[in-house]
Amino acid sequence: MHAMVLDAARTPLRWSSLDVPAPAKTQVLVRVQACGVCRTDLHVVDGDLTGTRFPIVPGHEVVGVVVKTGADVENARIGERVGIPWLARTCGRCRYCTSGRENLCDAALFTGYTVNGGYAQYAIADARYCFQLPEGFASDELAPWLCAGLIGYRALRAAGDAIRLGIYGFGAAAHIVTQVARHERRDVFAFTRPGDVAGQADARALGAAWAGGSDEPAPDELDAALLFAPVGALVPAALRSVAKGGAVVCAGIHMSDIPSFPYATLWGERRVVSVANLTRRDGREFIALAQRVPIRTRVASYPLERANDALAALRGGTLAGTAVLNVA
Ligand SMILES: [Zn+2]
Ligand SMILES: [Zn+2]
Repeated sequence: MHAMVLDAARTPLRWSSLDVPAPAKTQVLVRVQACGVCRTDLHVVDGDLTGTRFPIVPGHEVVGVVVKTGADVENARIGERVGIPWLARTCGRCRYCTSGRENLCDAALFTGYTVNGGYAQYAIADARYCFQLPEGFASDELAPWLCAGLIGYRALRAAGDAIRLGIYGFGAAAHIVTQVARHERRDVFAFTRPGDVAGQADARALGAAWAGGSDEPAPDELDAALLFAPVGALVPAALRSVAKGGAVVCAGIHMSDIPSFPYATLWGERRVVSVANLTRRDGREFIALAQRVPIRTRVASYPLERANDALAALRGGTLAGTAVLNVA
C-alpha cells in the first residue's frame, strides 16, 4: 500500500510503499477513504510534541471501510464504514480509565502519533475505539468530525451553559462547534487572526453574532471562551473578555507560553481549563448530536500524495475549508 511517512520531525512526509498491516485479535483493517488534516499533525511534524514514535504515518481523522476483522472483534462488520479517532487505545485499568476519564490514561496510544494513522491506503485500529458513522454524509465530510468535531464538542461541554460564547481561532474545530452552539441557541462571538476579513465573513455566515480580530475587545461580556488557536497570549486576552464565573477553555494539544497577568484578571471565580484528548463517550454523544444539527463541513480536498501541501496550507492559514486527504 501507499502511505505518507514521517521519518523525523521537521522533515517532509515521504511517499512510501508499505506492507498492508494485518489486524490483531481486537483490530480491524480499514481501507481508508478520507483522512482529515489536523493542527495536531502540524505539531507532530514540527516537533512541538515529543513522544512521536518514528517512523510514523500521521492522521487521526480517518474514515474508511472495514475489510478484515480480528478473531475477537464483535462490534464491526466487513463492509461497514467506520471512523478512527485520535484515541487509539487505553489501558482500561488505571484510575483514569476506571473513573470515566480514559482521555487522561497515562498508557494511552494515539493514532498518527504513537501508532500509525490514516495518511495511507489502509490502517488498522482497535475496533473497540472506532466509531460507527451515519449515512447521508460523504466520507471526506465526516473526517473532520473525528477530531475537530470531537475536541470542539468536549471544549463546548467544558464551557457549561454559557450563552455568550467566544471562539478564538476560526479553523476546523470552530466551524463545527459554531454549528453546534447555534443549534443549542448560544450566541457565538468569533475572534480570528487580526485582519482575517474572509474568516470573519465565514464565521458570520455560520451564524456568529459578531466576528472580529483577536486584538479587538468583545462587544459584550462573554460567559465563556474556547481557544483553538495555539497562542498563549490569547489566554489573558480571553480572560479579560469573560464575565465573573466564566471559563476560558484551552482546546489545543500545544500552545505557546502564556504571558503573566495580574491576579485581578482571574479574580471573580474565572477559570482557565484545558481539554485533553477524547473519551469514547464524547464520540458517541457528538456523532449523535452532529447528525441532528446536522453538521456540514466545507472540505478542501487533497490527494494522499499531496499531504505536505495540505499541511503547508494549514500552517499558512490559507485554507478555504478543512483540509482532507481523499484516498483512492
Ligand atoms: Zn488507563
Ligand atoms: Zn486532531
